[in-house]
Amino acid sequence: MSEKVYDVVVVGGGPAGLAAALSAKENGAESVLILERDHELGGILNQCIHSGFGLQWFKEELTGPEYAGRFIAQLEGTGIETALDTMVLSLDAQTHTVHAVSRTEGFRSIRGRAIVLAMGCRERTRGAIGTPGMRCSGVFTAGTAQRYVNMEGYMVGRRVLILGSGDIGLIMARRMTLEGAKVLACVEVMPYSGGLARNIAQCLDDFGIPLYLSHTIVDIQGDRRVERAVVAQVDEHRRPIPGTEITFDCDTILLSVGLIPENELTRGAGVEIDARTNGAVVRENMETESEGVFACGNVLHVHDLVDYVTAESRRAGAAAAAYARGERAEGGEITLKNGAGIGYTVPQRVRVQNCEKGVDVFFRVRAVYDGDLRIAAYSGGERIAAFRRTHLAPGEMERVTLPRAILEKAGEEITLCVEEGAT
Ligand SMILES: Cc1cc2nc3c(=O)[nH]c(=O)nc-3n(C[C@H](O)[C@H](O)[C@H](O)COP(=O)(O)OP(=O)(O)OC[C@H]3O[C@@H](n4cnc5c(N)ncnc54)[C@H](O)[C@@H]3O)c2cc1C
Repeated sequence: MSEKVYDVVVVGGGPAGLAAALSAKENGAESVLILERDHELGGILNQCIHSGFGLQWFKEELTGPEYAGRFIAQLEGTGIETALDTMVLSLDAQTHTVHAVSRTEGFRSIRGRAIVLAMGCRERTRGAIGTPGMRCSGVFTAGTAQRYVNMEGYMVGRRVLILGSGDIGLIMARRMTLEGAKVLACVEVMPYSGGLARNIAQCLDDFGIPLYLSHTIVDIQGDRRVERAVVAQVDEHRRPIPGTEITFDCDTILLSVGLIPENELTRGAGVEIDARTNGAVVRENMETESEGVFACGNVLHVHDLVDYVTAESRRAGAAAAAYARGERAEGGEITLKNGAGIGYTVPQRVRVQNCEKGVDVFFRVRAVYDGDLRIAAYSGGERIAAFRRTHLAPGEMERVTLPRAILEKAGEEITLCVEEGAT
């Protein structure tokens, strides 16, 4: 076993891991190590060559590699160590030891006083959603196609159908069009899009690509390669409606049907997972229920904007540095509960004594709402806060800030809910 004990060991060198490592260092951690399985830092942003990153954090519109590049450049001179081509295989959450393997170093066990988990997420595949049809080639997840087109220089098809309206699918509809392919349609099983409104406008509407809501693929046909796909409308139970079939002659199907936080390490270590986010349960400072183990970025919950990943991960890094110094957050916890219309909240638990001014609560709603809306916070049957909104959609992550004064008034639980037409 390696002798050195790092103050903070970060698993994953994407935007979350980079921000956490830099923040840990700025907040007094003496030794910080980033472990990344890829041959370069930057995570998924390296393949996102479109612009739209950094509008909030840098007040500039950057491409993915530019955004990641700014943080990679900041590592220079900090003394933060990085180990690339290094895959973390398991974590012992009690001893804060990670077990990792690389071609050059072989198997290693590395200890940290604190651990930050920042492994990102992966895409849901055809197998995961059980799309019927033949097993011909030409069916890709949108992110895989993005990597082929943007990084490896391969064109994945000419006549493309997109299943799912998540952001990656929308971005790829535009990318494939710009690369000379014909994108026939984007098909979404839900009655609303799973992506950001700005991506619907900029990636579909601007290129005349139709969006079929409440539709899904009911058959994929082809011998060696996809030749056509049959799409049908679905009812409110997402069952195909006979007689509504449309056939698209296509050679490629891109799937953008959801992301799954990559939490095998987390689960293996026995860290408590929230079934709604598929990420760890965390407190206000991103500490999981396993002391000294922190989580941030897409491994915690799927973010739509990287700027929020950066902000959240900086909190995780600062808290990990404090933990490594021996500081411990104390005091009772408030549990945040999901009321009507709320899909999840992050954090799930809050220690008031650890909130200087308040706590930012991130959440997603379960349906599309328009009109005079409130995000209301209740405790002990009493409404303790309300935040006005005019539009809410599951595809867009929301945030409210609960000030410390409000938290101090609350009991052991706070329930967030969506209220329509409320005052
Ligand atoms: C296609 C696409 C388009 C997007 N477009 C936008 C946009 O326009 N604007 C915007 O703001 N945001 C966008 N986003 C969102 C943004 O890119 C993500 O929110 C952000 O990349 C998440 O950062 P992360 O560090 O949590 O995860 P990732 O970027 O996925 O990084 C995780 C890292 O952890 C590493 N890792 C995982 N497991 C291990 C292990 N066991 N051992 C070692 N290393 C490991 C991975 O190799 C990876 O480098 C987009 C995302 C995607 C996928």
